[in-house]
Amino acid sequence: MTRKGAKQVNMVSRQGTGLFLTAFARFEDSYMPEPNTGCWLWTRYTNKGGYGMLGIKGKAELANRLSYRFFKGDPIGQSVLHTCDVRSCVNPDHLYLGDIKQNMKDRDSRGRVQRGQTHFRAKLTEIDIQIIREAISLGFTNVSIGKYFKVKGHTISGIKFRKTWKHI
Ligand SMILES: [Zn+2]
Repeated sequence: MTRKGAKQVNMVSRQGTGLFLTAFARFEDSYMPEPNTGCWLWTRYTNKGGYGMLGIKGKAELANRLSYRFFKGDPIGQSVLHTCDVRSCVNPDHLYLGDIKQNMKDRDSRGRVQRGQTHFRAKLTEIDIQIIREAISLGFTNVSIGKYFKVKGHTISGIKFRKTWKHI
């Protein structure tokens, strides 16, 4: 396991701000490599969806996004997805970029969304909320997001302004 040394040098030469290094040090202290799968399992707080979280400057960040940013570059405008399907994994080699629409399609094909039965009383899960928040930050409109999740635009608006789902 030579991962830390080589990648760290690469990272430091690329970006060198104090906050970044502090965040990186905390990140490096927050996972355990799993020798069989190669997954880096997050050992700190995970949200209810199973994704690792790390507080940076008082803001909760998704650990897989941080990993991608540290090792591969800023995933700005895109979702960070797992090839290993282990949500708490932060090994950058197991992460790839997909767009938010692709992410939604993947969810469908894996059967996480039951289409058709949820028109009237759509129930959102915490993973949905994460994807919704990401979609909001990417500039999707409340109506277009709402259509996808079969909820009204004002529901999305409530999530956006943290009237609901404040804890995520
Ligand atoms: Zn993994």
